[in-house]
Parts: sequence; C-alpha cells; structure tokens
Amino acid sequence: MEGNNAGTPAKPRIAIIGAGMAGILSAIRLGDAGLDDFVLYEKADRVGGTWRENRYPGVGCDVPSHLYSYSFAPNPEWSHYFSPGHEIQAYFEDVSARHGVDARVRFGTEVTRLAFEEGYWNLEASGGVRDRADVVIAATGVLHHPSYPDIEGLDSFGGEMFHTARWDSSVDLEGKRVGIIGTGSSAVQIVSAIVDTAGELALFQRTPQWILGLENPAYSEEDKERFRADPDLMRGLHESLSQTFADNFANAVVDADSTQLKLIEQLCLVNLETNVTDPELRERLRPDYRAACKRLVISPDFYSAIQRPNARLVTEGIDRIEAAGIRTRDGVLHKVDVIVLATGFRVDRFMRPIEVTGRNGVRLEDAWAKRPTAYLSISIPDFPNLFMLNGPNGPVGNFSLIEVAELQFSYILRLVDEIVQGRCREICATPEATERFDADRIEAASRTVWATGCRSWYLDGDGVPAVWPWSFDRFREEMSRPDLEDYERV
Ligand code: NAP
Repeated sequence: MEGNNAGTPAKPRIAIIGAGMAGILSAIRLGDAGLDDFVLYEKADRVGGTWRENRYPGVGCDVPSHLYSYSFAPNPEWSHYFSPGHEIQAYFEDVSARHGVDARVRFGTEVTRLAFEEGYWNLEASGGVRDRADVVIAATGVLHHPSYPDIEGLDSFGGEMFHTARWDSSVDLEGKRVGIIGTGSSAVQIVSAIVDTAGELALFQRTPQWILGLENPAYSEEDKERFRADPDLMRGLHESLSQTFADNFANAVVDADSTQLKLIEQLCLVNLETNVTDPELRERLRPDYRAACKRLVISPDFYSAIQRPNARLVTEGIDRIEAAGIRTRDGVLHKVDVIVLATGFRVDRFMRPIEVTGRNGVRLEDAWAKRPTAYLSISIPDFPNLFMLNGPNGPVGNFSLIEVAELQFSYILRLVDEIVQGRCREICATPEATERFDADRIEAASRTVWATGCRSWYLDGDGVPAVWPWSFDRFREEMSRPDLEDYERV
C-alpha cells in the first residue's frame, strides 16, 4: 500500500473473491471510487456465479427483472417480468465486459488460503498463485455449495443422477422416467419445465410447499422501446418495485402477525384450493405450517404440471436408492432413468472451504465453530480489512440480493475509506458490537414467520433463523453509514 502508516493517505491493494453478481459489482464500484489496484479471483472460467452454475431447465429468478438489475445498469431488454436464468447470465456477462471487469479477473484460480500476517492478507490460490492484499472482499455467494442428501444407496443408482446446480445437459430427458427429490424453488421450476418432455415424472416430496401463483408476463417490443428511449422509466420501476417488495414482503415476513403476511397466506391458499382439482392430491400438497415460513415458492404453473397424466407426487418417505430407482418406505420401488437432486445448498459455508486465519492466528473455523456470525453481516472481529457481501445474517430469501449487495458495498466503501484517508491501517468490528448484534438479531428472529414451526434453510443448527430479522428499511438505515464506535481501528 502506498502511504504505509496510519496518518498517511493510502491506496490499498484489494482482492475480491468471486466474479458473480457481488464480485462484478465490487469491481465496478471500486473503479468508480478510484481504488483501481484490485484483482478478482474466480475459480471458474466465466463470470456469473449462481447463474453460471444453475442451468437446469426452467431456471429463473422470482425477483422482478427490473429490480434484479444493478441500479447503475438498467436493462431495457428483459423479456419477462421474471427473467429466465440464461438472460440473467447474459446480463452479468454484458455488464462485466462493458465495465472492463473481465480483464481484471484471474479465471480458473480458486483461492484456498487467506492469512492476515504482519498487517496484510496473504492469499494462496490454485496453480501456485500467491498475492498480498491490504483488503479482501469476499463475494463468494450464499446458495453455492450443493447439499447432497444423506440417503442410503445414493451411489448405487444405475442411471444418471445430478444435483440441480450441477445439471448435466448432455442427458436427454425425452421420454425418460425422471425422479426429482425435493420441492423447493429449484424443483418446482424444473417440474414445470420438463413435465412435457419426460416420459414419466415422479416428484418425491418430503414437505409440501406454499406456492404463490404469480404470472410472468412478457414485455412487449413497445415496452422495451419505451425503456430504451427513457432509462428513467426503468429507474422509476426499480425504485417502485423495491418499495413494493419491502412493504409487502420483506417487512411482512419479519412480523409473523402482519396483515400483509395474512394476505400472502390467503393468496397461497386460494391458489391451492382453486388449481388442484383432485381433493386427495390437494390434501397431500397442503402444508401444515404458515406460508413464507419456508422460503416462498413462486410459480404460476406448478399445480397444473403436477396434475398432468404423466406426473406423480410421491409423499411416502424415501427408504433408499437402488440401481433401478428409488424405494420408498412402503416397499415400492419407483423405477427411474434419471434422478435430480433438488435438495438445496449448504448455506452455512460462505467463504469456506477457504482456510481463513485472522489476527494472531485466529482461525475462521474456530470463530465460527458455533455458527457463522458477522457484525451487520459484513465484518468479523479479529479479521481486519476482510469484508463480506451477502455474508451471514443478512437479508436473503425472497429479496433482490443485488440491492442488498449494493447497499452493503456502499457501507464497506466507507470502512475502506478509513484506510484510504490514513485514519487507520486495520479495521474490523469489535467483539462487543458483534455480540450485541448477534444477541439482538436472535431475539428479533423469534418474532419472524421463519420461527413459526417449519424446517428451512433459514434456520441454523439450533433452529434459530439466521437471516436479517428486521425490516428492510432498518437494513437500509444501518447500511447508510457505519457507526465507527463499533469498529476497532489500529
Ligand atoms: P431448498 O429450498 O433448500 O429445497 C430443498 C428441498 O429438498 C426441500 O424440499 C427439502 O425437503 C428436500 N430435501 C432435502 N434433503 C432431502 C432428503 N434427504 N430427502 C428428501 N427430501 C430432501 O433448495 P432449492 O429448491 O434449491 O432452493 C434453494 C434456494 O435457492 C431457494 O429457497 C431460493 O432462495 C433460491 N432459488 C431461487 C429461485 C428463484 O428465484 N426462482 C430458484 C431456485 C432457487 P424439506 O422441505 O422437507 O426440508
């Protein structure tokens, strides 16, 4: 770093880990701030993160397209209200190329070790790469590490089997017998997308889901023309969608008694009652917990897909997997050619498996032995100058993670500015602030809908919702500027 000691303005060297949505954002915003001594490390050979990896049939985002866009890069070309995954991937590739981010990425380079030694982050990556940075930004994603189910005989299956995030597009599903395990957003999108291709489709449901049947209208050529001619229209739309989302959803789920939540429940119930005609199937699809307790699933056509003659809902528990298919506890063998594991992600990993060691040899594995925590989701005591985007305890779920990351990045930039202005060389949250934050958020989590009695990926190992338990307005307010009293600066 030019200007070595606190007191001297400095231009830090910054390592960004991950070239997905949050990494691309970081690179662009650092460049805008004149902090151009940075590099992005990306283990894959393309940008795009989750959208690069999730390429299953029907993949899409159920946050409206004009909200799921960077505020500084509105896109008049979105084809639908909710965009398909390939368009989102193309959008990130386009923004990245247009802003010169690609040229700053070291592709095929997986960071394996980060150690804070003598005031610097020493970084090791695959291929023998070594680097030394003043600041590290972890943009490593949340829903990233596939969770494989602990089902007996998983390896004994004789057909094709893959996780939704590892979709094998060389496998032709035409006329095949396909078994899908899981009923989350991924499974629901896949069922609708492949039911007409598969010969037979069996959906193995452990827990039914509440489903909000929102339609997905296409934007007309005239709509796109208006957006192209007047980008302010898109900015206005971004703002109004953001507010509508916050008012009707984000703020509703953190108050289990809210009227908006009751409305969501009512809409889900009406969707089930009106669109599933067979009373027996309807009961098997009816959840016994509150809507939005699990991450709400949005689909206009799942119920019609699961009622096709070639589709079956299997609610008997899975006993084991055999060479020929899936055997349920009632002894029935469901013969299938392909098994899709729509079983979700290991959401407590964050930047791990990178081996991260902070000040005085403190290991992240130990700091997070109980559960992953970070002050305001950004900073960890004893891990100075290491900042996370979409880290633990932030707002995830039915939100625009782009909006979340943009707010977090502005906050991080203010912390980095303490270093740039020479006011300190190292900055991280104090243990007291982090403990207070953690206690407050655990207390607030008890009032959220996520704590009303269901199993979900929102819950930590102790069954406590691990995500931001307050309103989105509070998140915006917290992110508007750091309270430096809560930071240790040396
Ligand atoms: P998920 O919501 O975690 O769902 C995993 C499913 O697998 C659940 O139905 C779970 O059952 C089931 N499962 C797990 N282990 C099992 C086992 N051993 N036996 C039987 N069933 C098992 O995963 P996901 O669908 O991949 O979605 C993850 C998140 O990604 C979503 O919540 C969402 O935030 C995001 N996502 C968003 C979109 C979108 O924007 N449209 C699309 C896809 C994903 P239980 O419910 O009983 O645990």
